[in-house]
Amino acid sequence: MIQIENDSVVSFYYTLRDAQGEVLESNEDERPMVYLHGHDNMIPGLEAAMAGRAAGDSFEVTLQPEEAYGVWEEGQQIKVPFKHLQGLPKGARNWQAGMVALVETDQGPRHVTLVKPGRFMVLVDTNHPLAGKVLSYAIKIDSVRLAEADEVAHGHAHGPGGHHH
Ligand code: ZN
Repeated sequence: MIQIENDSVVSFYYTLRDAQGEVLESNEDERPMVYLHGHDNMIPGLEAAMAGRAAGDSFEVTLQPEEAYGVWEEGQQIKVPFKHLQGLPKGARNWQAGMVALVETDQGPRHVTLVKPGRFMVLVDTNHPLAGKVLSYAIKIDSVRLAEADEVAHGHAHGPGGHHH
């Protein structure tokens, strides 16, 4: 049985819950997520909890913000043109405060939280939407394999669930 260590390619199912037990994300009914271990492809606390596990293992881990998406920082609010907001949730008619939008920035697309909608300009917060949250992950390891040389060189997994070039 291969155990997860640096340069392992891992596929896994997860359910993410917040401190109140509400499910925020899950891929249980979809394809497993795939990543290359040891290349900063995941939040630090989750990657640390994966080390030494093997296919078939199930476990739960609760992460403080510092081990997950960081603490919530004040002063991260900016104004962006309304038309730059992307990713209106399915079924929603209008943008409302608290919704998460995708905005193109100089550093690439970023998830932001809508603070105050407006007709032409909107106020958004650029903290990661999961920043400042205590997060619990229920993990089930699907498979573990050794990475190919080109995956190690690229720093990410290839094939189903990984990067395609
Ligand atoms: Zn690649």
